[in-house]
Amino acid sequence: MNHGFETLAIHAGQDPDPHTGAVVPPIYAVSTYKQDGVGGLRAGYEYSRSANPTRTALEEAMAAVEGGARGLAFASGLAAEDTVLRALCRPGDHVVIPNDAYGGTYRLFARVHERWGLHYDPVPLGDLRAVAAAMTQKTRIIWVETPTNPLLGVADIAALAQLARENGALLVVDNTFASPYLQQPLALGADVVVHSTTKYVGGHSDVIGGALVARDASVGEELAYHQNAMGSVPGPFDAWLTLRGLKTLGVRMDRHCENAERVVDLLLAHPRVTSVLYPGLSDHPGHEVAAKQMKRFGGMVSFRVAGGEAEAVEVCDRTKLFILGESLGGVESLIEHPGRMTHASVAGSPLEVPGDLVRLSVGIESIDDLLADLTQALG
Ligand SMILES: *Cc1c(COP(=O)(O)O)cnc(C)c1O
Repeated sequence: MNHGFETLAIHAGQDPDPHTGAVVPPIYAVSTYKQDGVGGLRAGYEYSRSANPTRTALEEAMAAVEGGARGLAFASGLAAEDTVLRALCRPGDHVVIPNDAYGGTYRLFARVHERWGLHYDPVPLGDLRAVAAAMTQKTRIIWVETPTNPLLGVADIAALAQLARENGALLVVDNTFASPYLQQPLALGADVVVHSTTKYVGGHSDVIGGALVARDASVGEELAYHQNAMGSVPGPFDAWLTLRGLKTLGVRMDRHCENAERVVDLLLAHPRVTSVLYPGLSDHPGHEVAAKQMKRFGGMVSFRVAGGEAEAVEVCDRTKLFILGESLGGVESLIEHPGRMTHASVAGSPLEVPGDLVRLSVGIESIDDLLADLTQALG
């Protein structure tokens, strides 16, 4: 389908049900399917670990909005990550990862896959020479997050894709923070996109999920084989909730960005704030690259406060509308202290984050209420 983003999000993989005309794909709460004679599958459905029509709708929609040949849905973002690593890597291989990767991603590499002989090196991905220097004969994947969590670092997807290609490696991009609405890694040369659909795609903080989208059908086939063989698939209700979220991703994302820009203005002018981390700021080191590869700069904002860790924790305790909690990307605004919450597991590692840092997931509430809440919390 050669349609615009919002049209694909609402229609791709979601033709009205042929039997009833239902305009939304039904929740197929079913494990097995009647065969018309041995091996006579209807539309290929045999057993719901292998395929389920509600999940197929989500997978086709995700492939369409990312512009890939094949989409696959998983029980969580980390299940998707585990699957892509086991499908594409072998013991002895090497992966370059961001030196400020999502904490759970770092843990998957450091505590799980390292034991099975998959080696990794954390590198600042904004520094192309450092990435090139870290690559070895055995490097199979450059793993990219952009913008990163919680420091909002930016990596040049097109440049890294070229570097990967020249060295016989694949480029995998975790597109969770930007969402496919703001950034299209496959069009920039990435091989596989990873999502925690728990975040912006689901968008309502009511479901855990993950997705992979492959640019080429052959890589997609390998991932699909492992999805079925490993079995970390979402149930049909989770797939349905995620698909429901995806339909409004574009309009939500526009409001997330608009509200985040207003929050950034407030923080920049506040005497208790020592720095604001947002790729939309012209003095952000990754601003030019972000402006080239993103439609807008997203709904995540981090900032540092004058009073160190104690004040950062106090600010998190004082907000009323910004809910103190982990995760991000939902309609409601969230605040957190990365050092003690989402990134506590990387304390003491090269991925440790500063104690005076506060992270916001700016929601889509009325902006005046959000600004008033931050103003009172900052004191
Ligand atoms: C949350 C998150 C993940 C992990 O996804 P889950 O759905 O929690 O398993 C991976 N990458 C990023 C950038 C995330 O924010």
